[in-house]
Amino acid sequence: MGKRNIKKLHIILLLLLVAVICVGIWLWQTNREPAAAPSSTLKSQHATLQNASGVLEVHMLDVGHGDCLLLISPSGATMLVDAGDDGLFEEVIDAYLRALDIDRLDIVLHTHAHADHIGGMDALLSGDYEIGCYLRPAAEAGKPTKKYEKLLATLDAADFPTYALWAGDPSPLNTWDDAVTVRVLSPLPDVSYSNVNDTSLILHVAYGNTSVLLTGDAARAAEQAVLKYGNPDDLRATLLKVGHHSSDSSSSKNFLRAVGADYAIISCGTDYKNPKPDTLKRLADYGIPPENQYITLYHGTIVARLDGTTITFTTEK
Ligand SMILES: [Zn+2]
Repeated sequence: MGKRNIKKLHIILLLLLVAVICVGIWLWQTNREPAAAPSSTLKSQHATLQNASGVLEVHMLDVGHGDCLLLISPSGATMLVDAGDDGLFEEVIDAYLRALDIDRLDIVLHTHAHADHIGGMDALLSGDYEIGCYLRPAAEAGKPTKKYEKLLATLDAADFPTYALWAGDPSPLNTWDDAVTVRVLSPLPDVSYSNVNDTSLILHVAYGNTSVLLTGDAARAAEQAVLKYGNPDDLRATLLKVGHHSSDSSSSKNFLRAVGADYAIISCGTDYKNPKPDTLKRLADYGIPPENQYITLYHGTIVARLDGTTITFTTEK
């Protein structure tokens, strides 16, 4: 056998060896027993397949004065942020979820303990929704209201876990959807909050190059604390859920500058003379022109769709 033929034989043997290794790896992977999944995971996957859209949807329901946002992740995981004021659950929130065929909420959370954010929680928790877990801010300010004490007792007795969160704490938010990064930016454990509004969970939810900053009713003190003690770069978002129904006590200038959003969504009724013209002007001054400001009072329920590159809106009115 000549040298050239020996070289050819070596190459053929090498290719055969690679082929055998590849087939071996493939057989090993296909024959592996799948890890036993807990039933809740299976249910979650089922819900995921039903709702998967490939975009991050932020639904701001028209609940008048109050907040209720439904987030649906690209793979279909669901998150309800706040539940409006008393007496609206059946007519507004329940009807909306049913219309979308949603019967499981992977995460339910309240940003803070005021009635216009937790009003519908009792009705939600006593209904027939399957709930994965409940999140609330760990910070407290003042004595809890009777309504909030009742909610805490209901959560204590519930068959799903509740997490009280400070900024940076690990929670089910970290595994809500592999394609989405959710960070808790406030409340901060080293800050003392004197107002319930300032205990609000501030969440940054990012999908690709698009993101939404959820602020609850955080006012100036909480905004400044994040800027001072947190990393201001963490606030940068393409869509801002304007704090405290557009109140003048929120959306301070340096906070808006740090967020640098292109779009804003505002949940408000006519109570407290909202939306506040001065706040709308500040939004415009810091990069969110009036045509990019969506307000439930005028637009009804607002749906923002974040596809990782751009944001598109549909509104009820
Ligand atoms: Zn509020």
